[in-house]
Amino acid sequence: MNIFIMGAPGSGKGTVSSRIKDKYNLNHISTGDIFRKNLSENTPLGIQAKEYMESGRLVPDELTNAMVSDYLKSLPDARNGYLLDGYPRTLAQAKAFEALTDGSDQAVDLVLSMDVPKEVLTKRITGRRICKGCGEIYNVYYKAPANEGVCDICGQELSQRKDDNEDSLKVRLDEYAANTEPVIGYYDDKDMVAHINADQSMEDIWSFIQKTIDEK
Ligand code: ADP
Repeated sequence: MNIFIMGAPGSGKGTVSSRIKDKYNLNHISTGDIFRKNLSENTPLGIQAKEYMESGRLVPDELTNAMVSDYLKSLPDARNGYLLDGYPRTLAQAKAFEALTDGSDQAVDLVLSMDVPKEVLTKRITGRRICKGCGEIYNVYYKAPANEGVCDICGQELSQRKDDNEDSLKVRLDEYAANTEPVIGYYDDKDMVAHINADQSMEDIWSFIQKTIDEK
């Protein structure tokens, strides 16, 4: 099974993605994580993507498409398919991906859309903190650590993603509305989208997603 997961910043797609890939044994590809890794290692790709990411804009399609296409070639076959998280984010990316995979066993089967009202997203994002050691995710409004700035699990320092500030978030939400919502519309027209109410508890979201995938 090959799945795209779409959702605005703060929709919870990172948390859900890690559950989906474990339960269904999928290759998880997060374009945001790949860009962040390249940025922290200062690779040529990271250097090219840096100014876009830090201001919240989308990295140009050409760069992103080339990166995803390289990734697809190197995927191990051992798993049951892929979960593509954060891609395609523009119609041009969706069409490039289609041209690459149509008719092959890498074509997409299901699109999950994590739907959350915009007001809820801001608090989720600006409050988000991530442990530098184990990657555990906290939120200063909803899930604060026992000691401010310190991970409950491993005791390491918590950090904030550079693009999790209000200015950059506004740009990311605008990018989502302008570029990514039309992609969901495109797959809606093909009747491939499962819309998930992502403004409810993670357990309810998770039950709904498992049911959707199991029935596919
Ligand atoms: P978010 O939490 O905002 O949804 P991600 O972690 O998925 O963000 O991505 C972080 C940043 O990486 C984006 O704001 C963008 O600059 C870049 N990025 C990730 N995926 C794509 C993509 N498919 N196309 C263009 N840029 C991307």
